[in-house]
Amino acid sequence: MQEYKIITLNTGLVTASKSNYLYHASTHKYYLKPGEDDTAILPVAVFYVEGGGRKIMVDTGMSSTEIADKYHHPGSTQPEGYTIMDQLHSIGVDPKEITDIIFTHLHWDHVYYLSEFPNAKLYVQRAEYEYAKNPIPLYYKSYEDPRLPIEPRIHPQWEGREFELLDGECEIFDGISVYPTPGHSVGHQNVVIHTKKGDYHCCGDLVFTLDNFKEVPQIGYEITPPSRFVDINQTWYSIVETKKRAAGIEFILCAHAPEMLDLVGKVLGE
Ligand SMILES: [Zn+2]
Repeated sequence: MQEYKIITLNTGLVTASKSNYLYHASTHKYYLKPGEDDTAILPVAVFYVEGGGRKIMVDTGMSSTEIADKYHHPGSTQPEGYTIMDQLHSIGVDPKEITDIIFTHLHWDHVYYLSEFPNAKLYVQRAEYEYAKNPIPLYYKSYEDPRLPIEPRIHPQWEGREFELLDGECEIFDGISVYPTPGHSVGHQNVVIHTKKGDYHCCGDLVFTLDNFKEVPQIGYEITPPSRFVDINQTWYSIVETKKRAAGIEFILCAHAPEMLDLVGKVLGE
């Protein structure tokens, strides 16, 4: 099977509340101390994958500070040098060389600067694409839907681009496959990358901290559910499934877990 190497890049920092994103309300007392600052500063990690003559991205990350702050999470920042273009240049890759982009889902902080990738083929689950085109108003911001009544109107980065639409679990290339992990969004998927060290599972926003994979024995939970999702049942089963498939926690990569900051710039899988 084709082996790849993976480099973690960070495209910015978003602010989120620990109680509203990281930990489900039923688990707060096991993770959050009363009176403690509830703010979490989370990375927006994406993964550059190289092998078999391909240069692949798993997601492309977040927008400028201005857009993130105005339309999304106030206080979020994309410091100088953090755009996906700068991050790729820092490892000697030109965005125009990217052959493929596989999206875990189509929320704003996973799809930015797509126009800088004119030669890339785009992959997403069909269910995610269909939903992203017509979300309920609650998710207008998440998908940058032009119906969001803020001026100037905003449009999704992928507007006008063609996608290769995936239906469920499949192999995209030798050594790279996807499987559905719905729950955070309707058509969320994990991307599995084969390396010399083992298979890494890029799980996007399925979780917000690796704590989400821990048991909470006091209440009989086999995982710690997060508190941001469209469907908690699906989120639950998707986390259990990811845990079952991955060889260990060190093989799980996610977009926003603070633990990802330790991996930025390092080569995985060699
Ligand atoms: Zn996200």
